[in-house]
Amino acid sequence: MDAKPFILVTGANGFLVTWIVHRLLENGNRVRAATRSLDRGTYLRELFSSYSGSLEIVAVGDMTEPNAFDKAVAGVEGIIHTASPVTTVADDPEELIRPAVKGVTGILESARDHGTCIRRIVITSSCAAIVDTSDVQVTVSEKDWNDQRVQECETLSRNASGLSKYSASKTLAERAAWDFVDANKERISWDLTTINPPYIFGPTIHDVKDPDSLNSSSILYYNAVVKNNFFGADPLTSPSHAWVDVRDVAAAHVKALETPSAGGERIIVSAGSWVWQDMINTALSLPGSIYRPHPDVTGPKEVTTRLITFESGKQKRILGLSLGSLEECVRDILLDYAKRGWYP
Ligand code: NAP
Repeated sequence: MDAKPFILVTGANGFLVTWIVHRLLENGNRVRAATRSLDRGTYLRELFSSYSGSLEIVAVGDMTEPNAFDKAVAGVEGIIHTASPVTTVADDPEELIRPAVKGVTGILESARDHGTCIRRIVITSSCAAIVDTSDVQVTVSEKDWNDQRVQECETLSRNASGLSKYSASKTLAERAAWDFVDANKERISWDLTTINPPYIFGPTIHDVKDPDSLNSSSILYYNAVVKNNFFGADPLTSPSHAWVDVRDVAAAHVKALETPSAGGERIIVSAGSWVWQDMINTALSLPGSIYRPHPDVTGPKEVTTRLITFESGKQKRILGLSLGSLEECVRDILLDYAKRGWYP
């Protein structure tokens, strides 16, 4: 019997993708995991040693280089493209926009020119490509685009906020993906799905040595919930966006690969609106000593304002997802910190 074709995943050493690789392997898939260099894949090989026959690590270098993914796409039947710079610390907006857009166009070109048996490509976009902040109560859906941040970066360049630079990179990368599919209809045999998550939180299984080497969203979480450091923001009103558990986002990517009706769809994957105080309140409600609050935490406080609501009906309707609770997410993050000795 012929071996099952591979699923290619990019950015495979990252926070989210390590969970995606885990989910794919658990579901019986063969995974080709792309990292910049082979040594960045060593940890993955060890983590998933029980699946060694189903996991291949490939080095693709810097994805902004032309043809970076040409070899990696050969023989794969599906692609999950997640690699993208994730930070709000950048000087020139192009530091984020260029790799995000080049990564997307590069993998789609490679898939068009060298992917002979690809059925579906799933790209990790973001709710930041829809909206990032709002001063007023809004409800948004997959019909909305965060073009405002793109314009802000064009106008203010280096002086645009870090969040604007990141949001512009995700907006432009996702637009580039849909434009590519539109322009290449006659030349491709696969379709595209984008997954648009808001802030992703959850326990980590990728290679992190200490809290400072966590990915961006997890560092924010650690500082807020363990160190009571909100970087000057008011935890009762900030960030007033939405959250989702990393394990549910991983499941969404895998379901998006497998679900025929997900083709051509942007899909928000969100567990609901939140502010930092919701995380603290939930942690305080956990049994026993799972949460050991920072001395400055005085007790639960009522949250009255959550400004952004994402309409996320497609995650259930198309992908059939049922999401974990905030309690489970907060509990598992805190247990992960304790296990790693990061929790005083
Ligand atoms: P992460 O842990 O920082 O992973 C990012 C991955 O992208 C890393 O493997 C990184 O490789 C790779 N990458 C970045 N620039 C690259 C380049 N020029 N060439 C090759 N590889 C490159 O981030 P994450 O939090 O898991 O996020 C993963 C995806 O989810 C991103 O697309 C992000 O925009 C999206 N997302 C994240 C959140 C969130 O809250 N975390 C929310 C919504 C959407 P190196 O390690 O070698 O740099």
